[in-house]
Amino acid sequence: MSLKIYNTLTRTKSEFKPITPNHVGMYVCGPTVYSDVHLGNCRTFISFDIIYRYLKYLGYKVRYVRNITDAGHLEGDRDEGDDKFSKIARLQQVEPMEIVQKYTVGFRNVMQLLNNLPPSIEPTATGHIAEQIEMTKQIMANGYAYEVNNTIYFDVEKYNKEQPYGILTNRKLEDLLEGTRELGGQDEKRGRLDFALWIRAKPEHLMQWPSPWGMGFPGWHIECSAMSEKYLGKNFDIHGGGMDLAATHHTNEIAQSRACYHTSPANYWVHTNMLTVNGTRMSKSLGNGFLPEELFTGNHPLLEKAYSPMVVRFFMLQTHYRSTLDFSNEALQASEKGLKRLWEAYELLENFTPDSYRDGNEQLAGDTELDAKVLALIATFDESMNDDFNTAKVLANMFELVPIINSIKEGLIKTTALSSATFILLQQKFKAYLEDVFGLTRISTGDDGTLDGVMQLLIEIRKESKAKKDYATSDKIRKQLNALGIELKDEKDGGMSWNK
Ligand code: AMP
Ligand code: ZN
Repeated sequence: MSLKIYNTLTRTKSEFKPITPNHVGMYVCGPTVYSDVHLGNCRTFISFDIIYRYLKYLGYKVRYVRNITDAGHLEGDRDEGDDKFSKIARLQQVEPMEIVQKYTVGFRNVMQLLNNLPPSIEPTATGHIAEQIEMTKQIMANGYAYEVNNTIYFDVEKYNKEQPYGILTNRKLEDLLEGTRELGGQDEKRGRLDFALWIRAKPEHLMQWPSPWGMGFPGWHIECSAMSEKYLGKNFDIHGGGMDLAATHHTNEIAQSRACYHTSPANYWVHTNMLTVNGTRMSKSLGNGFLPEELFTGNHPLLEKAYSPMVVRFFMLQTHYRSTLDFSNEALQASEKGLKRLWEAYELLENFTPDSYRDGNEQLAGDTELDAKVLALIATFDESMNDDFNTAKVLANMFELVPIINSIKEGLIKTTALSSATFILLQQKFKAYLEDVFGLTRISTGDDGTLDGVMQLLIEIRKESKAKKDYATSDKIRKQLNALGIELKDEKDGGMSWNK
C-alpha cells in the first residue's frame, strides 16, 4: 500500500517516490507577515502540518521548510508601489522590521495554539538577500532576464520559446496574455507577463539593500526559489501552498529555477483549496477574514460562541484539503460535538485493559463478524491517508467505530466478540491518529471545550511571562494549576501540553 499524492503539475494522483529513499524535502510558502493571519491562511498551514505529520508517521525523515515573507511582497502582488511592510510601518511610524516582528510572533503563537509542528527551517526573505541576488545574476547570465533602469525583469516570452511557461496550470502563453493588460508608455518591461526579480528602490523606500544594480529589493517570487534551493537543493520532492499561488507565484518559481539551474524545482506540487465564507474565499482584502483569536474568544459579531483551537483544527480536518470548506457557526458547532464524541470514545479505549476483559480468551483476530468489521475499519485509516491524505475519510470511519467502542463499555458486546489483538490495535491506531497524525491535543470531555481554550490561554500567558523573565507569574500559574489537579508538561518541540 503506497502513498499517492495529487500533483497539480501532472493533474493526476500518482505514487509518491522520494528522490532519496526514506527522505522527503518539502517547501511550503509561508505567510507575508504584515498583518494577522486569518483562518483561511490557517487552513493551508494545518493541511501541510498534516502532510508533514503523516510523512513522519510513515517513517520518512522530513525536512520541512516554510518561509516567512518579510520583504519584497508589493501591494496588489505586482511590481510597482510600496511593499506591504513599509506601507504599514509608515502609517504606524515604526520600523518595517517592527511590523515583521509583531506579525511573525503572532503567526507562531497561532500555529502553536493550533498545534502545528514547527517546520524544520523557517527562513526569511530578508535573511537571504545575497542568495536572491546571486540567483538573479545567474538568470541574467543564462539570458532569461534583462535590466531596465536598475530593475531586473524575467523575460517570460524568451523562456516560453524553449519551455512552456504555463506548465503548472496547463495554460498556453497566448491564453495567459489575454488575461493581462496592455503595456503602457511608462512600463519598463518588454513583455506583459514579465515580472521583476530585483526592483530598484526610490530613496524614500524603507527596505532596501545594495546590489550590482544599485540599491533595491527583491521581487516576491525569487525568495522562494532561492531559499528552497539553499535548503532542499535544486530538485526536491514537494512544494506546497494555497491554490491561489499556483497561477503566478509558483508558475514564476518554476520559471526562475529552470532558467537558473535547468531543472524543475519540485517533483510534486501540492495545492490546498480555499476556506470560504458564504461561498466567497476568505481574504484580507475582501474584509471577510476571521482571525483565529476572534474564534478562540468568540469576540466577533457573527460568532455565536467561542471555539477552542482544537475544535477549529478538527473542523478543518473533516474536509479533504483539495475541496473548498465553508465556514459557519453551524459547522463549528457540529465539529465541537463530533470531537467530544471522539475523545470520549478514545478515553474509554485508553482506560480499558483488554486482558482482564478477555480473561484468557484464545480467539484470534478476525474470527467474529464484529472483529473483522473493526479490523477492516482500522485498515481504512492508512488506506485513506495514502489516498492523497484523505483526513475526512479517516474521521468518517473513526466515527463508525465510536458506537462499537461505546457498546463495549456498556457491556453490550460479549467478551468473546473482539480479540485482544484487535483491541490493542484499535487502541494504538486511535492514539496514533488522533494525537500524532491529526495533532489533536486532548480536550476535556467534561465540558464543551471551553476548558481547553482557557488552558491554551494560560499556557500562552505563562510562556510570555517566562520570556519576559517574570518567573513569579509563570510559577504562580503552574502551582495554582497543580493545586487544581492540572499538570503542565514541556514538550520536546518547545510547546506545552496539559493533563488533568
Ligand atoms: P499570504 O500570507 O497571503 O501569502 O498567504 C499565506 C498562505 O495562505 C498562502 O499559501 C495562501 O495561498 C493561503 N491562503 C490565503 N487565503 C486562503 C483561504 N481563504 N483559504 C486557504 N488558504 C488561503
Ligand atoms: Zn513562495
